[in-house]
Amino acid sequence: MNQIQHQRPTWAEISVSALIENYLTLKRTLTPGTRLMAVVKADAYGHGAADCAAALEASGADWFGVALIEEGVSLRRQGISRPIFCLGGFWTGQADEVLEHDLTPAVFRLDAAEELDARAAAAGRTIPYHLKVDTGMGRLGVPDCDLMEFARELKKFSNLRLDGVLTHFAEADGHDPAFTRSQISRYERAVEVLSGCGFKPSWRHLANSAGLHAFPEAHGNLARAGATLYGLTRDVLSDHPEPLQLRPVMSLYSRIILLKTVPAGCAIGYGRTFVTARESRIATIPIGYADGLRRAHSNNGHVIVRDRFAPIAGRVSMDLTIIDVTDIDDAQPGDVVTLIGSDKSLRLTAEDLAERIGTISYEIVTGISSRVPRVFV
Ligand SMILES: *Cc1c(COP(=O)(O)O)cnc(C)c1O
Repeated sequence: MNQIQHQRPTWAEISVSALIENYLTLKRTLTPGTRLMAVVKADAYGHGAADCAAALEASGADWFGVALIEEGVSLRRQGISRPIFCLGGFWTGQADEVLEHDLTPAVFRLDAAEELDARAAAAGRTIPYHLKVDTGMGRLGVPDCDLMEFARELKKFSNLRLDGVLTHFAEADGHDPAFTRSQISRYERAVEVLSGCGFKPSWRHLANSAGLHAFPEAHGNLARAGATLYGLTRDVLSDHPEPLQLRPVMSLYSRIILLKTVPAGCAIGYGRTFVTARESRIATIPIGYADGLRRAHSNNGHVIVRDRFAPIAGRVSMDLTIIDVTDIDDAQPGDVVTLIGSDKSLRLTAEDLAERIGTISYEIVTGISSRVPRVFV
């Protein structure tokens, strides 16, 4: 934002007050004594990890969660000092980064534990890690059926401390709670197995946003919230219980840069897929699929101009999109165009955009590219 003074009028506004409010709402939802891990992977779901994490830390965030060691290192360089958990563990060769930057990795492979133990021994330190157990997601984690054997191997590593146990839910947002309940009981058994092997982990965590909302019994003493922190709810949480009242954190804006009146029968944009049915007012906005306005919105979506909806006309192109403002007779060049966010009475959410193109809001917000400046308000 501060490198050049004048720039393209396309920006994502990030409401720090909404972020903090959501964080506090989520904290209040948790069982007393449970800490909240603010998941800020993927550049805080596209919201800007450095600024979001700084604001959350200033508001007392207990833990941060990232996917990659690289993301954890970048937060440390930005001055974040609270514990940082690396959900995806670390890659071969990154154990020294874990030590140097005081990151807490998930561990689910013996070779990773071995590498970390060796580097910790060389540094004369004992390094905490959290063991990831697969209780039915089938993705990362030690399968719970292999846990006993795995735990016996872990005992060899004298420079490591098993300080937490986590698992991840596959469908805590679903209509049928039975599978999540089975994951919870498999997790509880896994904790018992570890305890039987002499491990006393301080941290027990299972729940993502959907889990912390629908399964209070899965709060453990730490819960990992990402999507809800950013105010995404409709395609994140189940309908029961009542969805949490959270505020969207990101809005996405552009401005009309060109406005013209064209006759009926005029084709608009690449492939000439939109043909005006009447004399029309057609406006161009400087945002395209390279900014994260997905090409699937071609002839399939709308934006808000002067508190009215304007349909997207023709194909979304890389840098530009065309909208039909024929029914907004006072529309002018320079008018603000809301792609995500609210005007006076109308509102468009990331969930609305996602639903229209058959994806989830997570993919919408993480897809807003780095070319779009984030403006923190
Ligand atoms: C991304 C992630 C989360 C956060 O999930 P949300 O649905 O965004 O709350 C929690 N745990 C793990 C392991 C994750 O990868």
